[in-house]
Amino acid sequence: MKAPANVLVVGGAGYIGSHACKAIAARGDVPVCFDNLGAGHRELAKWGPLVVGDLGDGATLAKVFRDFRIDAVMHFAAHAYVGESVTDPAKYYRNNVASTVTLLDCMRKAGVDAIVFSSSCATYGIPDSVPITEDHPQRPINPYGWSKLMVEQILKDYQQAYGLRHAVLRYFNAAGADPDCDTGEWHDPETHLIPLVLDSAMGRRPQVAIFGTDYPTPDGTCIRDYIHVTDLADAHILALDQLRRGLGSLVFNLGNGQGFSVREIIASAERVTGLRVPATIASRRAGDPPALVGDARKARELLGWLPRFQSIDTIVGSAWAWQRRVAAIEPKGAA
Ligand code: UDP
Repeated sequence: MKAPANVLVVGGAGYIGSHACKAIAARGDVPVCFDNLGAGHRELAKWGPLVVGDLGDGATLAKVFRDFRIDAVMHFAAHAYVGESVTDPAKYYRNNVASTVTLLDCMRKAGVDAIVFSSSCATYGIPDSVPITEDHPQRPINPYGWSKLMVEQILKDYQQAYGLRHAVLRYFNAAGADPDCDTGEWHDPETHLIPLVLDSAMGRRPQVAIFGTDYPTPDGTCIRDYIHVTDLADAHILALDQLRRGLGSLVFNLGNGQGFSVREIIASAERVTGLRVPATIASRRAGDPPALVGDARKARELLGWLPRFQSIDTIVGSAWAWQRRVAAIEPKGAA
């Protein structure tokens, strides 16, 4: 039996990072969670050691590499609110780009040469056509998307110059929660559609605002490709295995290949919960492309990645189970 490897999970106390930690532990490795707990939660860092520190703090990071004999890195730590990135780009470039360079340089110094990086469909901007393949031109329309694209470029340059291998995973819309309800979506403030819709269903919010009904889509609302967070976590494990086999560098879209409008998500939530979702119409949110749907055939073919949660009602249902649990523990909790 192989000895467990220590995988540094930067942002491991956050939404997607905590699901990845569970997946790493489930296959017998040790997730070493590094998180500043700005957006993450101590309660979600429960599958391995937690080191509280900031991504931009090279001294603390270097100590983690020494103390834990890190084998590879998964990097989830990023600010990820599209609207906020438009009003406060400095925050996005400082954390998502500059601090990531600090992490990469610590990896080089420690001789760790494999990283799985959380990128985003936001790097494509407004696509020429959907579904989007990995070779579609990348033209971000908000600083969040730019910050992810900049790191993609930095990774290419670091591969070329220093041999640092990477898997870039371009997520579409992460959604749902761990099927055992061990972790789930917990943002403060919450800005994401599915948790807000479910909060409105359970009366924790008066209503959800639909951001724009005049998009060039069949019902006028934005279309997104919602992918279950556990499927995302599985893809990270498969990508890491590829890097360990010496393959790299890799770029994959991670989505279900099916788009749902905001109104369709509300309808799904009403089916799943059996409750009515009060909704109002609001103006468009800055930085939102009308439709983003991913073609993830490459991940299926090269990684053998098969999303397990493809039905939108199953995805929304898992979010609902988690949200009811959080509401029971902490009445104002995730809101
Ligand atoms: N959205 C909405 N009302 C909300 C939050 C989101 O209509 O209160 C829309 C948003 O404009 C986008 C979609 O729902 O088209 C998904 O947004 P979310 O913030 O969940 O994810 P993003 O696409 O920004 O990653």
